[in-house]
Amino acid sequence: MELLQPVLHYGGHWLAPFVIAAIIWRSDWLRIGAVIAAANLIDLDHLLADPIFDPERCSIGFHLLHGWEAALAYALMLLIPRWWMRAFGVGALWHLAVDYGDCLMQTC
Ligand SMILES: [Zn+2]
Repeated sequence: MELLQPVLHYGGHWLAPFVIAAIIWRSDWLRIGAVIAAANLIDLDHLLADPIFDPERCSIGFHLLHGWEAALAYALMLLIPRWWMRAFGVGALWHLAVDYGDCLMQTC
């Protein structure tokens, strides 16, 4: 578990976006994958927290952009007919899923 978690975390945050883009959009996967990966910027909300980074802390429900209100906003982005809006919404929701996976792994 010690090695698996960081691999899943960083792979999930930075590699999976391009895989998702290739599956959903097929064409233009590099550009769209970059937008999905850019959704990782929601981690900037960690800067508002003290301490900024705590590996023992679960981000979900703790940070401003990692709560259910934020998740609702990301889901609404999927309804906007702009590819980059949808890509960002998908990326942000995916980001929450990866973070949530971390929380599950921390407790076992
Ligand atoms: Zn996060």
